[in-house]
Amino acid sequence: MSTAQFAYLNGQIVPWNDAKVHVFSPVAKYGIGVFEGIRGYWNEEAEQMYLFRLAEHLDRFAFSQKAMRFDQGPSPEELTEALVRLCRANAFRATVHIRMMAFIDGSGEMGATGPVGTAITALPRQSAQQSIEGASAQISSWMRMPDNVMPARIKCNANYHNARLAIMQARRDGYDVAFLFNSRGKLAEAPATCVFILRDGQLITPSGTNDILESITRQTVIELARQYLRLQTVERDVDRTELILAEEVFHCGTGAEITPVTSIDRTPVGSGRVGAITQRLIEIYRAVVIGKDGAYASWRTPVF
Ligand code: PMP
Repeated sequence: MSTAQFAYLNGQIVPWNDAKVHVFSPVAKYGIGVFEGIRGYWNEEAEQMYLFRLAEHLDRFAFSQKAMRFDQGPSPEELTEALVRLCRANAFRATVHIRMMAFIDGSGEMGATGPVGTAITALPRQSAQQSIEGASAQISSWMRMPDNVMPARIKCNANYHNARLAIMQARRDGYDVAFLFNSRGKLAEAPATCVFILRDGQLITPSGTNDILESITRQTVIELARQYLRLQTVERDVDRTELILAEEVFHCGTGAEITPVTSIDRTPVGSGRVGAITQRLIEIYRAVVIGKDGAYASWRTPVF
């Protein structure tokens, strides 16, 4: 089923089918885990894979574990080494999506803080078709959980039950993606992405106190828009009706990259086609992640 030969589990590179945890472990019983989604971009010309913004992913991974009160796990250096070993063992020559997980292993109860297990998987994954053609969004009837209910700015597994309900509703209703609003009625984010709108030529995204994950792609977009398009992003509350007024809308994340949103609740966004600024950002982002012109080299960790 998988297209990778090996996975990493607790210090070892193991055959894919041997990467298992016990059904009685707290991660199986209560979903006590945190994770990161990271991309490794294959650059065909350089015959090289670049891990994109690994340092930022490792920082957030550590923060997620701290917020969930996990015992100390492997250091960022150990995790980097493990990830590089895994990519080399699989001898990938394609762009991959990596999941790095820390979870409560053993047989403890809900309050267990260890032992902390660590697992990494990587599987080839190209850009989604929607990132080329654009996606249809539904305003979800599910609310994004507030940060004093679940820690919205970290990637703990349990947060994704909220996201999953919104995804399932959107798919059943025939949409590609769900937009969730927060307890104050302001736009928060999509199940695995952050949202940007272009309104009156200004780039706007919900601020960090709107129950969003502090997305690395969001930060990347803010930086690239400033550097290449001379567009400053305004981080503020976004109202529901601003989505109708927007000339362009896109959502972004490590997996989805930058994906244009061409309709919301079946109403076209702007012209209903992929917007010019969104298209420019997609091109700039693609060039940077594969290291086309050397810019932002510190964002790319070579594997081979
Ligand atoms: N929001 C949520 C809930 C996510 O899971 C993700 C994916 N990690 C994002 C936003 C986008 O974050 P990033 O750009 O760091 O991948």
